[in-house]
Amino acid sequence: MQTCLKAKTSQSFPLNLNNDNDYYSAEANWQYMSVSQYKKFVECEAAALAELKEEWKPESDPIALLVGNYVHSYFESPEVHERFKEKNRSLIYADATVAQYKKALDSLGLDYKKTAKKEELVDIYESIEGDKPFLHGKIYRDFSIAEQMINRVEDEPLFHHLWKGEREVPVTGKLFGIDWKGKIDLLNIKDGYFIDLKTNAKFDKRYWSKDYGRYVSFVESFGYVLQLAVYEKLLEKRYGKPFEGFIFAVSKETPSNVEAIYVDEHKKDFELSMLEERIDHIDKVKMGQKKPKKCGKCEYCRGHKTITDFIESSALIE
Ligand SMILES: [Zn+2]
Repeated sequence: MQTCLKAKTSQSFPLNLNNDNDYYSAEANWQYMSVSQYKKFVECEAAALAELKEEWKPESDPIALLVGNYVHSYFESPEVHERFKEKNRSLIYADATVAQYKKALDSLGLDYKKTAKKEELVDIYESIEGDKPFLHGKIYRDFSIAEQMINRVEDEPLFHHLWKGEREVPVTGKLFGIDWKGKIDLLNIKDGYFIDLKTNAKFDKRYWSKDYGRYVSFVESFGYVLQLAVYEKLLEKRYGKPFEGFIFAVSKETPSNVEAIYVDEHKKDFELSMLEERIDHIDKVKMGQKKPKKCGKCEYCRGHKTITDFIESSALIE
């Protein structure tokens, strides 16, 4: 709770949300609500709060996350993409071979012992100051699929028509009495639209939704309808004119599928009305004024559970 109070009461560390480190920091998550944080609270208050307090972290699939980021960084800018690949190169590429290192050192006119082991060659290469190509072996399969996803999007004329504007734009504002933050993949202020680029396993998978009382697509299930609705509201407040959000989706299948997706207004209104109903309670839980409820089923709850009573069998699938 200390972190929370610190974030709520102190202005001594102003956040610069243009900076990724600040945008994704614990402080920013205490000061601002985001659609993904809200979604976590709806799913399980206890897990969301434990994560916010940095007492617990969900087991995520780092490779799936990196594949999405690989594609995103490409469409942000060539510099960001290169930096991303360098930072994560051991996960993206196999090691460069001895022959590759020798060739690179030869081309730079640098000496090395003919019998030098790979580690020695790596040391010499790494000690070279200034810009140098980063050497790597074969790209791993997940990232060769990411490359295919990029190429598939690049091949789509509609994408190029739409992908014009500012990239990775943070947006903040008040909504239902709470401070929100969001990050927009592509914002076109002049034409009043924005695009969120989504990478997804498969578009036609159905997910059961309690809120909708029926099967829904990944767009509803993953909170993307609400994300579009919230960003539209934040942008409308900031720029004083209407905005419409779209999703440009590319699948991880081979070959990749692509879709340009819009969402019916009534769904956005429905999601916003549920948000309005829930947000006050969620904010109170976040601020320690109400006790968080355990969902009893999620990763966090399964690991932090003590049986206190019998349940009737029907409750298992509620
Ligand atoms: Zn739970």
